[in-house]
Amino acid sequence: DTATLDGAVALVTGASSGIGEATAELLAEAGASVAVAARREAELEALAERIETDGGDVLVVPTDVTDREQVQAMVDETVETFGRLDILVNNAGVMLLEAAQTADLDDWHQMVEVNLLGLMTATHAALSVMEDQQSGHIVNISSVAGRSASATAGGYNATKFGVNGFTEGLRQDLTDDGIRTTIIEPGLVETELADHIPDEEIKQGARAWADSIEPLQSVDIARSIRFAVSQPQHVSINEMLIRPTQQE
Ligand code: NDP
Repeated sequence: DTATLDGAVALVTGASSGIGEATAELLAEAGASVAVAARREAELEALAERIETDGGDVLVVPTDVTDREQVQAMVDETVETFGRLDILVNNAGVMLLEAAQTADLDDWHQMVEVNLLGLMTATHAALSVMEDQQSGHIVNISSVAGRSASATAGGYNATKFGVNGFTEGLRQDLTDDGIRTTIIEPGLVETELADHIPDEEIKQGARAWADSIEPLQSVDIARSIRFAVSQPQHVSINEMLIRPTQQE
């Protein structure tokens, strides 16, 4: 879709790599002013430099989404800088796959804190701005793992099923307020996500699987996000499931 996002303001979490980084770039290319958030500031600065070189407007807001005050500050700073907030892409996430019997409880907590509570906290902060505007679009990154569960992924599945449930409830709350929601459910995307899997055997298995099919690239998901947020106001793309063609 080639609709312009001129004048729109977007905030993307988890923009220091992978899907978030590609999404920030595409939204900026489409004309949006973009605030980019994550913990790794150097990666955000490098991204910002590229966006600016291409003529885009960008704000770097180093943020740990597990910290409620930092999340509020992230939204506040975006609105102070760009004057409004039209698109929030809740993309920050971790996938710490482990069998339940041997899982480190801290890893489960981390996934819930980042993938689910971080997304809910950012949504809450953004909503007060979007309610005043009576317009906005919240894009929540779920996964194929938000629709079907599997061994070693129960903790991750819990967060992504949670994202789907939260977002559908949100959608129904917002139907009269001009605020849209979209759930994005990627299949395998070639990013840094699997690098953090704590269990060496599961990590190797994930790599072998990634080598056995042609995975999606981050830009493939970024294009779907740009498409969803570029629709006319009366069109709400509620959910997009995007798998590599070869993924079962
Ligand atoms: P990456 O690991 O490349 O990106 C994850 C991003 O999340 C990074 O920018 C990271 O930044 C950020 N992040 C992690 N923890 C925090 C935190 N506490 N606070 C702020 N930001 C944080 O992986 P992907 O691009 O693949 O992942 C993006 C999203 O896509 C995730 O929600 C993931 O679950 C989802 N997804 C990915 C799939 C895949 O196959 N790759 C498939 C389905 C869904 P930093 O470390 O700098 O904070």
